[in-house]
Amino acid sequence: MRFDTKAVHVGEEPNLAPGGSGDVVMPIHLASTFARARLSEPTGGYEYSRSGNPTRDGLERRLAALEGGSEAICFASGLAAETATVLTFLRPGDHVVLFQDLYGGTRRLFSRVFAKRWGLRLSYVDARDPGQVAEAMGPDTRMVWLESPTNPLLGLCDIRVIADMVEARGPGTGAGSGGGARGCLLVVDNTFMTPVFQRPLELGAHLVVHSTTKYLNGHSDSVGGVVITGDHGLAERLRFHQNAAGAVLSPFDSFLVLRGLKTLGVRMAAHQAGAARVTRWLEGRPEVRGVIYPGLESHPQHELAARQMHGFGGMVSVELEGGLGAARRLLETVRIFALAESLGGVESLMESPALMTHASVAPEARRRIGLSDGLVRLSVGIEDVEDLLEDLERGLRASQVG
Ligand SMILES: *Cc1c(COP(=O)(O)O)cnc(C)c1O
Repeated sequence: MRFDTKAVHVGEEPNLAPGGSGDVVMPIHLASTFARARLSEPTGGYEYSRSGNPTRDGLERRLAALEGGSEAICFASGLAAETATVLTFLRPGDHVVLFQDLYGGTRRLFSRVFAKRWGLRLSYVDARDPGQVAEAMGPDTRMVWLESPTNPLLGLCDIRVIADMVEARGPGTGAGSGGGARGCLLVVDNTFMTPVFQRPLELGAHLVVHSTTKYLNGHSDSVGGVVITGDHGLAERLRFHQNAAGAVLSPFDSFLVLRGLKTLGVRMAAHQAGAARVTRWLEGRPEVRGVIYPGLESHPQHELAARQMHGFGGMVSVELEGGLGAARRLLETVRIFALAESLGGVESLMESPALMTHASVAPEARRRIGLSDGLVRLSVGIEDVEDLLEDLERGLRASQVG
């Protein structure tokens, strides 16, 4: 099966056996516990819904197939999936190298929970330069954590080059390691691109994490997360943790993501087409100082983007003339773009990192990483792009009056 066929069918095959009801859509299995016909074995393999649930199982099979892994393990949010990854594979005292320009919640989790309270040692580096990753790695480095492209500056890192560096560090990561020798794991957060546009496991990553809250579900009505791998030994350890720690995805949320995934291919194509049109239009506007989008030839890593990804996605960052005041006026004027954090839904969203997602980062620190006050991040939805351009035009005109 090809990608779009898997997105519709894997994990949701009708039960055509005698007694099966033949539903073409996955039922939402709400039962918390499953009765046995015989004492010795659970009927249908299910015992208790935290340990295993048919609706969640269907979703996990589909996510594994789409990302090119063998197993997927779902959690109650993207951050719960990240927490599970750390608790499963790391110990206090271990060293982790991270891309400095990470999703804010990921950075907070590592810095405030796992470094401050749990004893991980962290090195944040500019992973656009793989040399900085190599330099930061030492004998105690057990994990490298990447996002590409990053949020909101859309910087990329070369996943294959970094994967080769991680692999060269010795044994214990790949198939069959079984958790004995402690090697170094490469984790990639693929939330921004989805497997439609980027497959980190094919590029050498050991684990892929997602916030399913964003594009995978795609309709802004569910919070969830997943870890996907092609290594059965790693999957078994995550599966143990899922049941033992218990932050599982609910049957209803599993159903919603199964439903959302059916249109992942067409949605991502529409997000990308809209983003491409919007960026071209924005580049010609006098109110705009710069447009950041990996699909533009003006993006400093456009060549890597074209090589590493199968598309450029639906996220766009715009730097306005007139700084914070202009950003504020744009945000207060637009009507179709909703003023909201998050991303990846069918509806277009707009946010100001300086006023919203990155307001807790000190202005000085924001400037240092290149996050200017006039920066506005767009999550381009699947509305008619002419309506989006009219909305932006109204907002841009208002942005310069003040
Ligand atoms: C939203 C997001 C997360 C966190 O996911 P939640 O579902 O909100 O917990 C992690 N990484 C990225 C890139 C995100 O956009």
